[in-house]
Amino acid sequence: MVSYKELGLVNTREMFAKAIKGGYAIPAFNFNNMEQLQAIIKASAETKSPVILQVSKGARNYANQTLLRYMAQGAVEYAKELGWEHPQICLHLDHGDSFELCKSCVDFGFSSVMIDASSLPYEENIALTKKVVDYAHQYDVTVEAELGVLAGVEDEVSSAVSHYTKPEEVVDFATRTGCDSLAISIGTSHGAYKFTPEQCTRDPKTGKLVPPPLAFDVLDAIMEQLPGFPIVLHGSSSVPQEYVDMINQYGGKLPDAVGIPEEQLRKAAKSAVCKINIDSDSRLAFTAAVRKVFAEKPGEFDPRKYCGPARDLMEELYKHKIINVLGSDGKAE
Ligand SMILES: [Zn+2]
Repeated sequence: MVSYKELGLVNTREMFAKAIKGGYAIPAFNFNNMEQLQAIIKASAETKSPVILQVSKGARNYANQTLLRYMAQGAVEYAKELGWEHPQICLHLDHGDSFELCKSCVDFGFSSVMIDASSLPYEENIALTKKVVDYAHQYDVTVEAELGVLAGVEDEVSSAVSHYTKPEEVVDFATRTGCDSLAISIGTSHGAYKFTPEQCTRDPKTGKLVPPPLAFDVLDAIMEQLPGFPIVLHGSSSVPQEYVDMINQYGGKLPDAVGIPEEQLRKAAKSAVCKINIDSDSRLAFTAAVRKVFAEKPGEFDPRKYCGPARDLMEELYKHKIINVLGSDGKAE
């Protein structure tokens, strides 16, 4: 058993309280490898933004849980080396699907876990979430729960259809589970194909797909039920067209990939939404940069020469999100 406090990490409690008060959101960036982590930490340190490092079950399987934990610990030290005196870094399990997985993360130095029992019947979701909360809170680890179902595919999490969170359930759920934050479904979606062309309209000028707007009326109703309670948005990548175009230009094939427009996320960040999850955008930036190098320099075989540019592009992306979308820059001096 190792406590996240020994690793220099923080849980989400204070981060979220400040974010709601200040009208901004904390970035939650997924990571699987060193280059992603370097880019996240550099962007956060340079902008002095609190940050949540997210590890999915798939990332744990891919990279090894022990290695990821020490990488997060290393990230704190790296942030200090970059001149960030008091780094506000949280290590969070994304989409935990069992008590055992959540417990293992708590025991391994995570400062926050998500238990996603949203696919279970309501009462079972409550029972499992409460079990995780009861365990995690003994160690001052914060817990994110989920109500409602997001469409899309992300690692092991996938659903063909979405069900909006029911505002009439949120008070009962939050009270009975004791969760610290709540992931809701208001029309965001996992992956790079958040909407089918049929769900979208087409911009007559560019021919590009325009996704349907988020259900801000549902968000408003939830905030009315749970004033000041931290709300989380999953599946909130914007799928920047420049990256999709780069990928397609250099031999990739991502037709009609579409995400959540940034102005909608900006609006959400000003509300009780205090954690916004971004994974696909970083994957797209990484892939776009690597494809460009391979297309332009087919003789290149030093991974640093293509992972390096990928890292730079991700760093640029993270800074853009922090400064221009979430507004979390300068909030962790
Ligand atoms: Zn998610």
